[in-house]
Amino acid sequence: ADLAGRIRRAVTTVPGFPDPSTVFQDLRGVYATPGLLAEAAAAVAAEFAGDFDHVVAVEARGFPLGTAVALAARRPLVLARKAGRLPGPVASAGYDLEYRSDTVELQRDALPPGARALIVDDILATGGTFGAVAGLVAGQGAAVAGFAALLAIPGLAGAERLAPARVALVAGSG
Ligand code: 5GP
Repeated sequence: ADLAGRIRRAVTTVPGFPDPSTVFQDLRGVYATPGLLAEAAAAVAAEFAGDFDHVVAVEARGFPLGTAVALAARRPLVLARKAGRLPGPVASAGYDLEYRSDTVELQRDALPPGARALIVDDILATGGTFGAVAGLVAGQGAAVAGFAALLAIPGLAGAERLAPARVALVAGSG
């Protein structure tokens, strides 16, 4: 089957995690399928080919795909981390998630001026996380080339919130 279908079939849903009103999309099966993450990363790298020169991966669940995209494209990998984990001067942005609020940080010199950053996470829900990281990227004088995730949670309008930025969802919107 096509890549999107194979990823969707590898995802399992866990109702009631981490809170009673949430249906958690568990990507364990994607990571456990040999070659599937590499194929997804190659698709993302191809989709944005020529338009990005850095990959920003969002802690923690954006690290597998983000790392794989950086390797596939042979581009520098930058880690956007949760509060308090990066040394040196950092820029911080708070944001609300589906089921909590959080702060994400980027080291102030992580991206050179004029860099074009592709921002990568595992899942797009409301777009709050991507939006916060995009603000940090823009705050460094870098451009946001777009966003990539394995899938989106339907009904939360995450891609619309990020518009007009390009959003690539390897497996579509869930
Ligand atoms: P957003 O900020 O777009 O509302 O939420 C996206 C973030 O929440 C991502 O960092 C993602 O890892 C996490 N997230 C939200 N819902 C789920 C889910 O059902 N499964 C997984 N694996 N992550 C989720």
